[in-house]
Amino acid sequence: MFRIYRRNPDLVLVDTRVIAQGPPRLLVAGMGDALATWFEAKTYADGRVRNMRGGLSTQTALTLAEACYRTLLEDGADALEAVKAKVVTPALERLVEANTLLSGIGFESSGLAAAHAIHNGLTTARGTHDFLHGEKVAFGLLCQLVMEGQARSVVERVLGFATTVGLPVTLSEIGLAGVTPAELGLIAQRATAREETIHNEPFEVTAGMVSDAIRAADAIGRAWKRSL
Ligand SMILES: [Zn+2]
Repeated sequence: MFRIYRRNPDLVLVDTRVIAQGPPRLLVAGMGDALATWFEAKTYADGRVRNMRGGLSTQTALTLAEACYRTLLEDGADALEAVKAKVVTPALERLVEANTLLSGIGFESSGLAAAHAIHNGLTTARGTHDFLHGEKVAFGLLCQLVMEGQARSVVERVLGFATTVGLPVTLSEIGLAGVTPAELGLIAQRATAREETIHNEPFEVTAGMVSDAIRAADAIGRAWKRSL
């Protein structure tokens, strides 16, 4: 399910003047994907799982993954405003570096965990098809944090960031307002397929745990939005 190339690209060219002219939603979706990097990398490293290329994670990868998260928190909102105004600012430059380089290296040199597996599960539901990869990953991350039993302060920081930049924190925000138990079961089954990265979590994950985490994350997200 992952296509691994024999060699890296010769060049990755990212021009922030072009990005500043693009749709703000694409930048935000990129932030959703990058939002999961640190949490998935940390889960990976804590469990001493082999990374995407079969090696162990490094201090370098974890430091970059953490810098990715910190940059999102510090620059995400300002970068979004810059793209809405179609201008390039230092905050946008830093945020784009986080979305691409820091997230890319942080993920590739460490690995994925529940957030991306739940994303893959969500893609089985037709309602989510109009939503972007990073949007579904952001909600998947919320489910991961709930399933891992992370501290309320950790969850709130992610919720706060997500709602500030407009990333989804509820099922209805990814097209699943009326999700049926059967659909939820299918999502959870797909998320826990044998080859899935959810099994990099440091505990055994079952489909039942995933559907519970999805319901709980949705409830937490809805409560959070009511409190704003
Ligand atoms: Zn991704």
